[in-house]
Amino acid sequence: MRNIKQLNKSVTVNYIVSKINYAELPEAVRLFAGMDIDKCIFSFISCDGNAKKNIDLLLPRMTEVMPHIHKALDIAIEADLPATVCSYPLCFLRGYEKHCEELHAPVKYIRDAEILWENFHKISEEKARVEGAPCRQCGYELLCAGPRRDYVEKFGWNEFSPVPGEKILSAEELLEAEGNG
Ligand code: SF4
Repeated sequence: MRNIKQLNKSVTVNYIVSKINYAELPEAVRLFAGMDIDKCIFSFISCDGNAKKNIDLLLPRMTEVMPHIHKALDIAIEADLPATVCSYPLCFLRGYEKHCEELHAPVKYIRDAEILWENFHKISEEKARVEGAPCRQCGYELLCAGPRRDYVEKFGWNEFSPVPGEKILSAEELLEAEGNG
């Protein structure tokens, strides 16, 4: 990454947050800030493929990770390093809502080896994400796809608590509101 920055190229880090590295996230962000990285995305792990086979080793509880994500965001904000969090529901980002990657991400076309996925976010939401009872009372329900199905199959819904208030209708409305990071 240092070599790429020396060539005046842009570098975005996608840090996959798992059980084995979440505690190091704040320190990693300090390192990235010192390297003049352009943007960080903290992506809560999606347990597909080999990660699915090792889910007990890799998948942390969202509440366990939360203070480390908040601390990492504080460090990024202080360092003026753009940082967002992906695949991590808004109820765990209270006070940091503006750093939710999905609120900023445009409709995406993703090409892999064999196929062009149109509107990838919508497809992945429909395939992998679920809403539960807390979501139906949550002010962010219309913006949030909920957690992944495999997460709630493993840990249940106890960690999720609805965000009080009227339903927010659009990402723009939330991003423009005061006091949410
Ligand atoms: S809709 Fe559900 S998962 Fe999303 S923020 Fe609200 S309670 Fe959390």
